[in-house]
Amino acid sequence: AKRSGGGSTFYTPELDDTLLSRATLIAQLRRAVEEGDGLDLAFQPKFDLRSRRFFGVEALIRWRHPAHNLLLPDRFITLAEETGLITSLDRWVLRQAASQRRRWLARGVDLDIALNVSPHSLLEGDLAGDVAGLVRELGLMPAGLTIEVTEGALMRDPERAAEVLRRLRDESGIRVAIDDFGTGYSSLAYLKRLPVDEVKIDRVFVKDMVAEPRDASIVRTIIELGHNLGLAVVAEGVEHAEALDRLSAMGCDQAQGFHLGRPSPASMLVELVEGAGG
Ligand code: C2E
Ligand code: CA
Ligand code: CA
Ligand code: CA
Repeated sequence: AKRSGGGSTFYTPELDDTLLSRATLIAQLRRAVEEGDGLDLAFQPKFDLRSRRFFGVEALIRWRHPAHNLLLPDRFITLAEETGLITSLDRWVLRQAASQRRRWLARGVDLDIALNVSPHSLLEGDLAGDVAGLVRELGLMPAGLTIEVTEGALMRDPERAAEVLRRLRDESGIRVAIDDFGTGYSSLAYLKRLPVDEVKIDRVFVKDMVAEPRDASIVRTIIELGHNLGLAVVAEGVEHAEALDRLSAMGCDQAQGFHLGRPSPASMLVELVEGAGG
């Protein structure tokens, strides 16, 4: 855009486009979230390293945007968080995931479904009450659902987070995972006290662990820490067979990554899991 001098404001098409696209994107996202229109879940398998079976999946949001084809969450989750739309978005994912679990169970497929919950969605409103209502409505008890929260969400208000997580566990049988472990700041004292079942080692440490001894040490240390606290340890971002072997040898419990399976539609997921004899 050409800006003319003199201090007055002139028409700048590029700037205008940026503003327009952000405003438009927000309006479109609001419509998508309110009507569930264009939103979809992809499911990525989670693999158990001891039984060598797929035991669950992680639900990942996708948006079939009218003009941009398929949008990955990195393009719109922050926007949803900034505009407060994240609470409705995460509630929509929760209902879809629970319904998917119900449908799979009806076909004899018993897969735990993990979902991501942003800090705002965890701490504002009544997540525990909403989940309990949904679990009752769908006749799912225990829910067979895992809620993944980041260290940041837990440390923002540890007392409140602990209370919500405890209720989710007690009232609905929800499992709780700490996501992206190792990238944020979390106090070990809180970690010990929080009602958590699982830690997920962030993929930045896993992706190069075969070539980088220091990454391998971090992974080994987190596995040991998790086990000392009585938690299941999951490695995410497993892209090669070598990493999977190393993780098995280190005693890691579970793994997830492109090597084991990419995020896929529900129908393809069942084929993958059954094809592997799981
Ligand atoms: P995350 O929770 O850490 O999810 C894992 C991300 O890693 C996914 O990206 C997945 O596609 C990607 N991934 C899985 N395996 C591999 C691998 O082997 N290599 C590499 N390089 N990447 C791998 P995705 O689907 O783009 O999601 C990005 C983030 O968006 C998620 O990170 C999560 O923080 C957030 N997100 C996704 N769905 C939701 C949702 O429903 N609600 C909220 N609040 N956040 C969500
Ligand atoms: Ca996650
Ligand atoms: Ca993660
Ligand atoms: Ca992440």
